[in-house]
Amino acid sequence: MLISPKKAVKLTALVLLCSIIITGLSLLYLNFRSRSENRTETVRFVFFDVGQGDASLIENGSGFCLIDCGPEASEERLCTALSAHGVTEISLLFLTHTDSDHSGGADRILRKFKVSTLYLPAAGSESTDISDIKRAARESGTDIRYVCAGDYFTLGNAEISVLSPFSVPSGDENSDSLILRVSYGTTSALYMGDADTAAEKRLLEQYSASFLLCDILKVGHHGSDTSSSESLLEAAKPRFAVISCGLANSYGHPHPLILHRLRSVGAEILSTDLYGETVLESDGLNVTKK
Ligand SMILES: [Zn+2]
Repeated sequence: MLISPKKAVKLTALVLLCSIIITGLSLLYLNFRSRSENRTETVRFVFFDVGQGDASLIENGSGFCLIDCGPEASEERLCTALSAHGVTEISLLFLTHTDSDHSGGADRILRKFKVSTLYLPAAGSESTDISDIKRAARESGTDIRYVCAGDYFTLGNAEISVLSPFSVPSGDENSDSLILRVSYGTTSALYMGDADTAAEKRLLEQYSASFLLCDILKVGHHGSDTSSSESLLEAAKPRFAVISCGLANSYGHPHPLILHRLRSVGAEILSTDLYGETVLESDGLNVTKK
């Protein structure tokens, strides 16, 4: 059968279009299948009530990751809470920075639990003397590593990425806090430490808004108005915003303006002063409150 040149061009275009659609659908299927195969466990995000301070646990079938250890005054309470979650060994312990409300309980944790590695921000601006923490790590056989943006860890199928500080630190300890992104399947959580709006600005310059979009935001600096800029919250658009702070604390955390901003982007606010220990769970597709 003879086909006119015009029809031949149309036919070729049609075949090409079909190939592109079939290739696209195959890639989508493979991507979906790979994500499904990676979701074989549940990841729990635990936010402890340590009064005015921070301590969060990430747990799945593969182990435990602790982010911050709260103040010294709450160290026994934190040890009890960790044991209640079945913790005996901690694979990764991150201290977002060395302020005592984040690191005060660290030496006790290092001595009570078997901690594989302690990670500190590689910013070099430690405002607090942490020689007791380093000694506890040394005496317990825990490695100490300094990390910055680009470092990456896994806990089972959960991925933990360090987003900040960058290789050139600002010199301010809060601003140089570790910022961590934990992802599992299509869900993710951002841990902001005590990072301020200057750190958030750097974050927004370095990463796309879609990368910062998250299900859980561990709100920066206990809900202070020195953090949680409108632009960060617009990018993150968290479903759950967790604030760790002490009841009727003298700093006035969380600030009413920040509560308003979080509600404006549709976040459900969970603060440890009102709710106590807070647990969120991800199946890789959705995050639910427990
Ligand atoms: Zn703090």
